[in-house]
Amino acid sequence: MKILSVNAGSSSLKFTMFELPAGNVLISGNFEKIGIGNSFYSIKLDGEKIVKEKDLKDHSIAVSTLIEELIDNKIVNSLDDIDGIGHRVVHGGPNFKESVLINNAFLEEFKNCIEYAPLHNPAHLMGINAFMEALPNTPQVVVFDTAFHQSMDEEMYLYPLPYEWNEKYHIRRYGAHGTSHRFINKTISEKLDRNDLKVISCHIGNGSSLCAINAGKVVHTSMGFTPLAGTMMGTRSGDVDASIIPFIVQKENKTCEDVLNDLNKKSGLLGVSGVSSDFREVQNGINEGNHRCKLAFKMLCQSIANYIAMYNNMLDGSDVIVFTAGIGENSVTMRRQVIENIKSLGVTIDEEANGKRGEFVLISGKDSKIPVYVLPTNEELMIATDTYNIIK
Ligand code: ADP
Repeated sequence: MKILSVNAGSSSLKFTMFELPAGNVLISGNFEKIGIGNSFYSIKLDGEKIVKEKDLKDHSIAVSTLIEELIDNKIVNSLDDIDGIGHRVVHGGPNFKESVLINNAFLEEFKNCIEYAPLHNPAHLMGINAFMEALPNTPQVVVFDTAFHQSMDEEMYLYPLPYEWNEKYHIRRYGAHGTSHRFINKTISEKLDRNDLKVISCHIGNGSSLCAINAGKVVHTSMGFTPLAGTMMGTRSGDVDASIIPFIVQKENKTCEDVLNDLNKKSGLLGVSGVSSDFREVQNGINEGNHRCKLAFKMLCQSIANYIAMYNNMLDGSDVIVFTAGIGENSVTMRRQVIENIKSLGVTIDEEANGKRGEFVLISGKDSKIPVYVLPTNEELMIATDTYNIIK
């Protein structure tokens, strides 16, 4: 089957087409600056990337251009050859516990989820509508970033806040990156040929989250009601004392929204280093002796290590720790420092193996009490696989 995996943002649309069940990529690409001028798109085919300028007034134009490219490049002969479309959706609220086929009932219920991700969910809906218009007869599926975490127990997802806030407004831990953590759990379980693994999955990218998983069930995840919580990230603070917000509101004569924006967009690596939210640039700063870059690096590694230690405790001992995403897959120094920071768990490093980047590799030492792996994530494939399983 030919399945298209789609991630629609407010001004972008990323896609990858897979042949399933084999899982090979047929074509991928990205439409950018949709509706904001100077729009263009890129297509990756047979290892070659082509960039084309095109006036993309809205998501419908991006979708019709995508379909033209699929036909022109002979990926499909006609629309009928597209067997299914899987859409990434950031937030499924309290009710969506797994991926679902899109129909009228879904669209009605999804309206209730908009408020949980007011920036992302409306953009996903634009993408869904554009594909539904262009391909009304093709089955389409939604894959939620929050769904995997719905398997958490109540005592793990509830906050120690007035109980009615959860009853009235569904204030609770939802987490994010669920599709990535599910992919990591599935893949490491297959590779180690176990279905009862206790996994600590560390998705460390621009946005970062950790997830403790016991035999496929989420025990805990570091992001919370929104993706602001948890470890320190590129621009997000991660966990901080909420009292800081009214304090800064008063001191700087800002609104609550302004300060929240500062926590989301001006904190983390960017806020502490003052240089960049991009890990590689912070690394360059360290090499030049920049104190605040060093500080940002230390704080990032410590906050990841703290979650790993907590999760090892929650799991009553873990079987495996896995690093993934941009920093997790590529940063030799971050992994070395985090492993140093969890040495009380008996974890050791194999320096040579840790030198590898972007591939599946065991990076812990032979004497390590917990094996540590690097495993590249593939959320797009997980979305396509869910779509395939639902429509087949
Ligand atoms: P997003 O959350 O946007 O999906 P990614 O998972 O792509 O983020 O991760 C982006 C982060 O990965 C950036 O901070 C970037 O600097 C970092 N990164 C990418 N490649 C490398 C590398 N070779 N070494 C260290 N960090 C890297």
